[in-house]
Amino acid sequence: MKIAVLALQGAFLEHEIIMQKLGADCIELRKREDLAEPFDGLILPGGESTAQGKLLRELDMFDPLRERIRDGLPVFATCAGLILLAERSSNDTRNYFQTLPVTVRRNAYGRQLGSFHTVKDFGGMKDIPMTFIRAPYIESARDDVEILAKTDGNIVGVRYQNQLAISFHPELDTDMRIHQYFLSFIS
Ligand code: GLN
Repeated sequence: MKIAVLALQGAFLEHEIIMQKLGADCIELRKREDLAEPFDGLILPGGESTAQGKLLRELDMFDPLRERIRDGLPVFATCAGLILLAERSSNDTRNYFQTLPVTVRRNAYGRQLGSFHTVKDFGGMKDIPMTFIRAPYIESARDDVEILAKTDGNIVGVRYQNQLAISFHPELDTDMRIHQYFLSFIS
């Protein structure tokens, strides 16, 4: 199984290390030509969504990737990656792939609580460590989006068809269950 990791900016290396531990091969997507190589799944890492979106467009990677996601490519998005997938943002006019029917709120926890750690259930999994770094949360989701996790009433993890998207950074903790869950739905 081959997983492509968007490697333009942000915390991509940590995802590759976990994927390799789980027995998946990784390729890095840094330029349009990298999309020519076959891959079975895509990881959109955390970082800065505005920088990632700008680079995706400048490098001509935006349209081909959006098409692959629309066509059903399994995608796992963390934090800034969630913003890239979201249909809209309640506090930002910029939109990106818009393949995930949710409304996100960027930097939703404000300055005081910019970064924090908690432990919560995620889907059927108990006690998942969750590290939030200037994270978005999901304000609302269409009825057909499966809600997997909430903290303090806010949605922080969803699955919609081929797309798994979360607000936090599991790649910064040692628990690999969410990455494993993502690999489990790649046929
Ligand atoms: N605050 C970032 C953004 O708006 C996301 C932060 C992250 O990925 N850790 O894009």
